[in-house]
Amino acid sequence: MSEHANLLRRHQAVMPSWMALNYSEPIEIVGGKGNRVTDAEGRSYLDFFIGILTNMIGYDVPEVREAVERQLATGVVHTSTAYLLRGQVELAEKIARLSGIPDAKVFFTNSGTEANETALLLAAYARRSDQVLAMRQSYHGRSFGTIGVTGNRAWSNLSYSPLNTHFLHGADRQLPQFAGLGDDEYIDVCVADLKHVLATATSGDVAALIAEPIQGVGGFTAAPDGLFAAYKEVLDEHGILFISDEVQTGWGRTGASFFGIGAHGVTPDIMTFAKGLGNGFAVGGVVARGELMDGLHAVGLATFGGNPVSMAAANATLDYVLDHDLQANAAKQGETIISGLRAAAERLAIVKEVRGRGLMFAVELADPASGKPHPPLAAALMEACKERGLLVGKGGLYGNVVRMAPPLTLTDAEAAEGLAILTDSLETVNEAYT
Ligand code: PLP
Repeated sequence: MSEHANLLRRHQAVMPSWMALNYSEPIEIVGGKGNRVTDAEGRSYLDFFIGILTNMIGYDVPEVREAVERQLATGVVHTSTAYLLRGQVELAEKIARLSGIPDAKVFFTNSGTEANETALLLAAYARRSDQVLAMRQSYHGRSFGTIGVTGNRAWSNLSYSPLNTHFLHGADRQLPQFAGLGDDEYIDVCVADLKHVLATATSGDVAALIAEPIQGVGGFTAAPDGLFAAYKEVLDEHGILFISDEVQTGWGRTGASFFGIGAHGVTPDIMTFAKGLGNGFAVGGVVARGELMDGLHAVGLATFGGNPVSMAAANATLDYVLDHDLQANAAKQGETIISGLRAAAERLAIVKEVRGRGLMFAVELADPASGKPHPPLAAALMEACKERGLLVGKGGLYGNVVRMAPPLTLTDAEAAEGLAILTDSLETVNEAYT
């Protein structure tokens, strides 16, 4: 048995079966440089999924490595948040300013799940309510609370949760009752539905609405711009807080705005973040209006949240994003790839939709005969891309969406290379299925 085959066998023996690996022949990534990774067999891949949107400015970035090495050289890997930590204060100041939330305060966690858990706790505590609103097709994490606000059965098959959740319409616009509605009409229908849910299905004192501006695991599906501003007007009338989950959409990835919610023209009460901020180091957090954050005095600290090494990585990463205006680069490269994919899709029967914004885009695939979701198509496209040296991700309510979230540092040449591989792979899969 090869060493690789042996590692796979050991993985299957000790890791949970639901931690499914990508590809019929899973790969072991052993190296990374720039926007590429190398596997144990020495094959190089352009990485359009960067972990899971984690290595947002690529691999082995000198600025990040040096910041982390400087921190390691002090001997302080961890002390405690009970002491003053310069890196933590500096990062919190930047995020508070960038968030646009007035009088904002920041609390650091180690993951997106923990960040959302904290945000929900904050809201529930402020409003003395366990009732929450969430979106259909959403994903917010793997804890008991966040699974309760996840509207995607593939990721949340619990029939119970500590939270009392009502799911709203937003990105699930393909339902037959919404066919033919323009954006404004659809938003009106959604707002009427929200009012109806509040009046008839809740006791009225709902804590919060939690929503992703663009749904990540849901397949990069999005509600029409403006929906969350319209929802917020109603929420404000009831004192209900709005949590924007920016775990996938933050830091300029969507190109149009620094946080995904910017496209809706509304400032949330609370935002959560994680994934790319540490460029691979574990950093998550919550930013919220000060009086809300301070209200949670019952909970002290997260032992590893805001640790000095993660803060060094995150400060260096965020500075890099801002100094190089990577939001503008995301807009530019995203436009090239999305328009290229749309042009190719016109001759491809398996493509139901190309969608996205900035460097967050996806191809939804459907069976050409029935028009129904067909997950094997997504698996086949992933394999075809891998064979050609491109890593991508999968998602969608039915596992029929191939998602791409390249590093924000993507160059013109890499965008062209990725687009060419995607187009060629789509054509090959299309030929095999039609
Ligand atoms: N929220 C969103 C939108 C996510 O996409 C994810 C992870 O994919 C999470 C929360 C959970 O983050 P983590 O896996 O860091 O706990």
